[in-house]
Amino acid sequence: MEQKIIILPERIASLIAAGEVIDRPSAVVKELVENSIDANATEIEVNIKGKEFISVFDNGEGMSEKDATLSIQKHATSKISKEEDLNSITTFGFRGEALHSISLVSKTTIRTRREQDELGVEIFAEGGKIKHIKKIYMEPGTHVIVKDLFFNTPARKKFLSTDQVEFSYVLDVMTRYALALPNIGLKLLKDGEVFLNLKPKRSLEETIKTIFGDTKKDTIEILFQVGNISIEGIIWREKSGIGKWIFVNKRYVRDKTVFSAISKFNFLKNSDYIIFLTTPPEMYDVNVNPTKTEIRWRAPAKIREIVITAIEEAIRHKFPQTIIPHIEQETFSEPEIKPFEIKKEESLKILDEAKAKKPTVKVITILKGIFAMVDFEGEIYFVDLHAYHEGKYFRELKEKFLNIDKREILRFAIPYEISIPKSTILKIIDRKEDFEKIGLHLVPILEESKVKIFSIPYYLSGVDLGEFLEEFADGFEIRKIEKFLANICCRTVIRTGDRLEIWDIMKILEDFDPNQKCPHGRTAVIKLDIEELERKFGRC
Ligand code: ADP
Ligand code: MG
Repeated sequence: MEQKIIILPERIASLIAAGEVIDRPSAVVKELVENSIDANATEIEVNIKGKEFISVFDNGEGMSEKDATLSIQKHATSKISKEEDLNSITTFGFRGEALHSISLVSKTTIRTRREQDELGVEIFAEGGKIKHIKKIYMEPGTHVIVKDLFFNTPARKKFLSTDQVEFSYVLDVMTRYALALPNIGLKLLKDGEVFLNLKPKRSLEETIKTIFGDTKKDTIEILFQVGNISIEGIIWREKSGIGKWIFVNKRYVRDKTVFSAISKFNFLKNSDYIIFLTTPPEMYDVNVNPTKTEIRWRAPAKIREIVITAIEEAIRHKFPQTIIPHIEQETFSEPEIKPFEIKKEESLKILDEAKAKKPTVKVITILKGIFAMVDFEGEIYFVDLHAYHEGKYFRELKEKFLNIDKREILRFAIPYEISIPKSTILKIIDRKEDFEKIGLHLVPILEESKVKIFSIPYYLSGVDLGEFLEEFADGFEIRKIEKFLANICCRTVIRTGDRLEIWDIMKILEDFDPNQKCPHGRTAVIKLDIEELERKFGRC
C-alpha cells in the first residue's frame, strides 16, 4: 500500500482525546468536583454506583441556560479568555475540556440554576450530542449526573479495574480536596451509603482523623513564611499510613522539587507528610499536562531552598536548643511559672514542662560528623556524640534492667523455644524468679533440653536469648550485667561514620549531662578551657 497514514475522522479523534483526559471514574469525579469548587460551592456531594454512575451535586453559583448549553462544547470555559491569563491561573479548571470530554463518553445530565433565575435548566446529552433541554424547578446550584460511562468506548471500559479498585481511586481524589479545602463540606456516597462525611469549616486534624483514623503522634509541624510564599504542614516522622501529600495553592501535585527538598533530610526518608505551599500563581506553570498533577516552577532552586529552610525551622522550633547553621538564632523564652492558684496536677505539669525546657543545650556546629560543639549554660563543650550516646543509652538500659517497667515487656503469643544444654537448664530452674524480675518469663523443659520463653524485656529483642541465659545462669552479677549491656549499646547506638541528622543529634543531647562518660568510663564531653585559651593568646 502506498499510504499507511490516514487522518482520523474528527469524531474518532475527539473520542481518543476525551479518553486521555477522562480515563476512569475518578477522573470524572476530579473534574466535576473541581468545577464545583471553582463555582464557589460550600457543599459538594459525590455519589458513586459501581463504575458507570457518578453524580456530583453542589450549592455553587450555577449557570445560565446559555452557559449550560455552551459548557459541554469543546474549549468552553469561563475561566480564562486571553493568553496572559495562562500565567496566573487561580481556578482548578481552565481548559474548557472536561465537561465536553465527559459528555462525549457517557450519558450526561446537567441540572443547574443560578440564584437570580427563577427556574433552572436541565440538559441531557448522549455521546456529546444534546438530546433535550428543559426548564426545571431546583435549588440554586449544579447537579451533574454521568451515566453509562464509556458506553461508546468499549476499549476504555475494558481497561477499568474492579469496582473496589476504581472506588479507591475516587477516594484518593476526594482525599485531596478534603485535605486542601477544609471550608468545603464534602460528602461521598458509595452505592447509596455514606462513605465520607466531612463538615465544612473543619480543622486539618478532624479531616485526618475522619479519613485515616488515629495516627501516631510523632510529628513536626511546619509553619513558615517568606515574602509572599508560605508553607504549612505536618510531617510524621515514621510511616503512619497517611502517605505523601503536596499541595500548591490547594492543588494536589506530585512535585519533584518539593520531594527532593524533603528527601534531603535523611531522617524523613520514611516519613509521611501533608504540605501546603502558597505562592503567587505566576511562580509556576500548571499548563503542563491535562491531568494537572504536575507543575513547572519558574525558579525551582528557590522553592527547594524555601522548603528546606521551612523544615529546618520546624525542627528548630520543636527542639528550641538546635542551631541549624546559616539560620540566625532566635531566643526562646522560658515558661513563666505562677505559683499561686494552680491545682496540683496543673502545677506538676507546668513544672514538668519547665524542667523539660531548662537548661537547654544549643548545638553550635558538628565537626567531622561526630563531634558536636555545644553551648550549655554559657559554657562551650565538645561532645563525642558516639561515646555520649553509648554512655547515655547504657545508663538508660541499666536503669531498665534494675527497675523493671511493666510497659516494656514483649510478650510472645506463641512461646519462643530455644535449645540449651541440660546443665544450663538445671541452673536456670533455680534462677527462674531472678529472670522473672527482669521481665523474662520462661518454662524450662529438662527432658527436651529446651526452654520455652513467654516474654522478654523489650531491650533484649535483638539479643541471642540462648547466649543470654547461658551468660546469666549463675546469677546476675553486676559486673557481668554491665559488660553485657555495654555490648548491646555498642551494637545499637550510632557509630563513627553514621550519617547523623540534626533530629538524631537533638535526641541524643536531650537533658544534656556535661559529665557523661562512655560505658567503659572514657569521657564523652570536654569543656572548652577559657584559661587555656587566654594563655595561648598570651593574655595572662
Ligand atoms: P473548565 O473548568 O476548564 O473551564 P469545564 O469543561 O470543566 O471547563 O467546564 C466548562 C464551564 O462550565 C466552566 O468554565 C464553568 O463556567 C461551567 N461549569 C462547569 N461546572 C460548573 C458548576 N458545577 N457550577 C457552575 N459552573 C460550572
Ligand atoms: Mg473544569
